[in-house]
Amino acid sequence: MSVEKVLKLIQENNIEWVDFRFVDLSGKTHHISVPASAVEEETFENGVAFDGSSIPGFRGIEESDMVMMPDPESVYIDAFTAHPTLNVMCNIFTPDGEHYDRDPRGIAEKAEAFMQASGIGSDAFFAPESEFFIFDDVRYHSGMNSSSYSVDSEEAAWNTNRKEEGGNLGFKVGVKGGYVPVAPVDSQQDIRSEMCRLLEEAGLVIERHHHEVATAGQAEINFRFDTLKKTADNLLKYKYIVHNTARQYGKTATFMPKPLFGDNGSGMHVHQSIFKDGEPLFYEKGGYANLSEMALNYIGGILYHAPALIALTNPSTNSFKRLVPGYEAPVNLVFSKGNRSAAVRIPVAAVTPKGCRIEFRTPDSTANPYLAFSAMLMAGLDGIKKKINPVELGYGPADKNLYDLPEEEKAQIRSVPGSLEEALDSLEADSSFLTEGGVFSEDFIANYIAFKRAEAKQVSIRVHPHEYSLYYDC
Ligand code: GLU
Ligand code: MG
Ligand code: MG
Repeated sequence: MSVEKVLKLIQENNIEWVDFRFVDLSGKTHHISVPASAVEEETFENGVAFDGSSIPGFRGIEESDMVMMPDPESVYIDAFTAHPTLNVMCNIFTPDGEHYDRDPRGIAEKAEAFMQASGIGSDAFFAPESEFFIFDDVRYHSGMNSSSYSVDSEEAAWNTNRKEEGGNLGFKVGVKGGYVPVAPVDSQQDIRSEMCRLLEEAGLVIERHHHEVATAGQAEINFRFDTLKKTADNLLKYKYIVHNTARQYGKTATFMPKPLFGDNGSGMHVHQSIFKDGEPLFYEKGGYANLSEMALNYIGGILYHAPALIALTNPSTNSFKRLVPGYEAPVNLVFSKGNRSAAVRIPVAAVTPKGCRIEFRTPDSTANPYLAFSAMLMAGLDGIKKKINPVELGYGPADKNLYDLPEEEKAQIRSVPGSLEEALDSLEADSSFLTEGGVFSEDFIANYIAFKRAEAKQVSIRVHPHEYSLYYDC
């Protein structure tokens, strides 16, 4: 949308506030509201100033002045404010008018430009399946204080269901029992439908919604794929609308990867493909799962760089509590058609040449989508350029249930890192695929690793509730 059209939209909808938004390193959205009457064409040229020193992971105090540069393409009307408000995503610039090299949205633009300049493709498409839980609006539902914490998953899950003392469990969802039952077992049809209505109003195209596998209120809403930066913008809208709709219903939504011990966690599988001038490049009839050589090399890049990549696609300590066997989250660095225990799955049901894509199942929604999508694209492009063959390197194809393989066969398969620290070690050792063409700067990578190591440290120095079960009466 042109700036002129945005200004017209403001007038026609009696918009009172324009909300300028940007994301920090962790992918959290920040905002500053400006009276609509003060927003003019120049605002889009000069931007809006803010204090970068107060944003975790951004600048030091001595260089705090930063500028948000609004992207008129990204506007949508906020559904939750009493005063009509127009939200607009911004890129971050330094006061000298340079792109700020730690701005995640700027990195996404560089990744797209890098792919186009390489001549490999004109568009990379992304579609995330971002799962989440809806809980009643009290904190610590899984009993994360030491007195009520239970290591019994069933009890933890049933506690989230049980309103009445004594616990009549009729029509309630048990552990791993939530995959698509109708109401009254699924009590969240209306809240998901309302989320979808508001997402459509904000410009997303909704494909479906459903209750997910875990107990009581695990949900998934799928929206249509788009190019890299636009999909990351859409994911931020998605989270904002999911969180705020839940709040309107007296609930709270969380994208935390593993809120309940002993039940499925929430992933963010990411479907991806490359097109050139409208033609899909990942399809070739007759190949494994009808994949082209380019698609196989893209998979090779993803799997080869996965230990480092995961520091950006699964960047929380909680991420690694999801990446364990037995909960439909991938642990094995292999690819396969259909097999949900593989890190890379190639959907084959009802797939057309244009719909031919790969699904990386490892990521979760603690990822900053601009950084995660950019990093996946860079890994895939590296695979294409270096012709990394995933079959030769022992990454599959693996079409058996990998959880059930004999131990000696399992031992041949590489696994995802076991912790955030391990993933950060891998990123430290393998980051040149990201810094190619200056897409991620060296400074960005070093700062990101330090930022995330500090986060992991903060978790590791705290006493864990389970330590009471293990050690209290020693
Ligand atoms: N919730 C599972 C995960 O953590 C995925 C379930 C599914 O296949 O949709 O990845
Ligand atoms: Mg799912
Ligand atoms: Mg999936």
